[in-house]
Amino acid sequence: MATHPANRGGSQTAAQQPATSRILALTGILQTTLEINELMALFAKELGRFIAFDGLVYHFTSLDISIALGQQTGHSCEYRLIVSSEELGDLKLHRDHPFSREEMETAENLLAALLYPLRNALLYQRAVQSAMIDPLTGVKNRSTMKDSLVRAIELSRRQGTELSVLLLDIDHFKTINDRFGHLYGDQALKAVAQCADRSIRDSDALFRYGGEEFVILLSGTSLEGSLKLAERIRHNIERLHPLPDRDVSVTISIGVAMLQQDDDIDRLLERADTALYQAKSQGRNRVVAG
Ligand code: GH3
Ligand code: MG
Ligand code: MG
Repeated sequence: MATHPANRGGSQTAAQQPATSRILALTGILQTTLEINELMALFAKELGRFIAFDGLVYHFTSLDISIALGQQTGHSCEYRLIVSSEELGDLKLHRDHPFSREEMETAENLLAALLYPLRNALLYQRAVQSAMIDPLTGVKNRSTMKDSLVRAIELSRRQGTELSVLLLDIDHFKTINDRFGHLYGDQALKAVAQCADRSIRDSDALFRYGGEEFVILLSGTSLEGSLKLAERIRHNIERLHPLPDRDVSVTISIGVAMLQQDDDIDRLLERADTALYQAKSQGRNRVVAG
């Protein structure tokens, strides 16, 4: 990034503007976007007119936001961003030599301009995320799955890489509801989804497909790799205690399908569903490839 304050050619450099007018001008610029990555890039660019720095890192853990711009060189100053006792995350500036007291003060002043645009961007981000997440299980919902599959299929065709889907269905889930009631059933469903989620890599995606069925999308994974992962998930769920105060276990069956040349989404899922059906009819608690 190597951002250094620029003398814009006039009689007054950006750094010499009075603090309040700087903040107002910057707020105006930052209010032009609700997109968090764009907002941080804009802020870094504007901040660079006042302070030289090599990199900026921003974290907001509750929404899983982590943005790193430029280089994370040896010296840093860190700010906890708070507005009206609401936490807005942590922001760190990096440089290869220490920041002076005046530079830190300037950064602090300019951060004041970031707070409200940042709060709006986080609210927006939260709304976008909650529209994509299934509220019961905390994994992505079915409408998100369709978009992700379309993109993954396109990418796989363009790059000539493999793509597979796993279709998971909990075995005899009705009996969990019948034995313990729907509230416990919901709790077991959530525990299974989260166990599956912990079993996959960050680059894989898990979606609630419907009722007690889930889809996992694996990009760039061979049939062998997909079967291995499916077997690991099956095993992890078999060992899970999905209800903390009840001595009960659950199993799942999994159908695996690899993307073929003429597949569209429906055909790919249909083959996974056929494989799942075979896993069920062969006795459940198993993985079958279609
Ligand atoms: P199998 O898949 O092994 O053939 O048997 P199953 O008992 O799981 O049968 P099926 O897949 O046909 O039924 C799924 C059941 O899951 C039906 C429904 O009562 C239950 N279910 C679906 N969604 C939810 C949910 O959100 N909460 C709860 N508690 N139960 C659900
Ligand atoms: Mg089912
Ligand atoms: Mg089932």
